[in-house]
Amino acid sequence: MTRTSVASIRGALVMDAGGGFAPVDRVNVSTGRFSRTSTGGVDLDGSGLWLIPGVYDCHTHLSWNDFHRADRDRRSPAERRALTARALGDTVRGGVVGARDAGGADRALQADVEAGSLLGPRLQISVDMLGPETAGNEDRVRAAVESALDRGAQWIKLIATESIGSPAGAELGSHFSDREFRIAVDLAAARGARVLVHAWGGRAVSAAIDAGVASIEHGIFLTPAQAAQAAAAQLTFVPTLSIYHFVRGLILDGTVPGVPLVRIDEVIIAHRLAVATAHEHGLAIALGSDFATTLQHGTNLTEIGALMRAGLSSAEALTAATRTGAALLGIRDGGVIADDYLADAVLLSSDPTDPATFESPGSVAAVMMGGTLVPLEPGTSPHRTPQQQ
Ligand SMILES: [Zn+2]
Repeated sequence: MTRTSVASIRGALVMDAGGGFAPVDRVNVSTGRFSRTSTGGVDLDGSGLWLIPGVYDCHTHLSWNDFHRADRDRRSPAERRALTARALGDTVRGGVVGARDAGGADRALQADVEAGSLLGPRLQISVDMLGPETAGNEDRVRAAVESALDRGAQWIKLIATESIGSPAGAELGSHFSDREFRIAVDLAAARGARVLVHAWGGRAVSAAIDAGVASIEHGIFLTPAQAAQAAAAQLTFVPTLSIYHFVRGLILDGTVPGVPLVRIDEVIIAHRLAVATAHEHGLAIALGSDFATTLQHGTNLTEIGALMRAGLSSAEALTAATRTGAALLGIRDGGVIADDYLADAVLLSSDPTDPATFESPGSVAAVMMGGTLVPLEPGTSPHRTPQQQ
């Protein structure tokens, strides 16, 4: 894999730690980090472009290529591997430099990315998803958590509530007991891992917060009291707005049968309200796509636009997508363009304060990770190639 080192980016409008933009003559890169001085490499002409930190997608499924599990299972291992490699490449080329896989990706895949034999974002993995078949028995929960940790999980993923396929109201019950949440959190913590919880609302959200999980995923029916409780506990909320618009399309074209349109429409509206509620209560919000198909991987930045359309300012949405995501993943030197931070950044050809920018894939002109340019797919050309001097 050919990698071009970047020495500097010149003349771009550069995002600051608060999500605002100002012209900067020269952003220097040295040994993989932003720096006061630069060492060997190309100087990129960023004039007329916007430079944002690399994006963190805190909820994705990189090893899933089809929406339905049955379709995934029908593919041969070689085919699945090829599609997963493509998903990893598309994701990083789309501007995502850090990804938390919320179930599916395993240690072997992560090792390939770390070794550079697969192009992909900085990857953290959950391996398994522990749901109703695990819940309801403390020994079973213990064994399942230990097993995932043994196989390299940095995150324990609990599926604590029902989802779109259930009748309205069913998602407010919790698969896991309060004690089971605590068992998962304690076992994970003992081995340096943390817990993320798929919870649409109700008891599961409150119990997960009480148990000390790191993040609540989806949180469609998050209440103001839960948002306040989560903010006080310094949790992070990972809404996944875009995916439900995608699911709405699947319901319309018959791919997801048996779900009334009114159900998904209620979910879409409630989810936007949940984001507004979280925002109002000062709950940290990070970006999550929940993407799980070949067509979706690589379009992760659409979620930035979705966060803006749900009421976050552009500065807030961009900060959620970068600094807050890096913080959730424990990457303290990520998500900000400032000296000594990881030289991860995305050059955009259109204005990032406009949500439409993120709904058009051509907006990503270049992606830099660790101070080198992410190679573009052969045969594709970005909307505008930054000039190399
Ligand atoms: Zn998910």
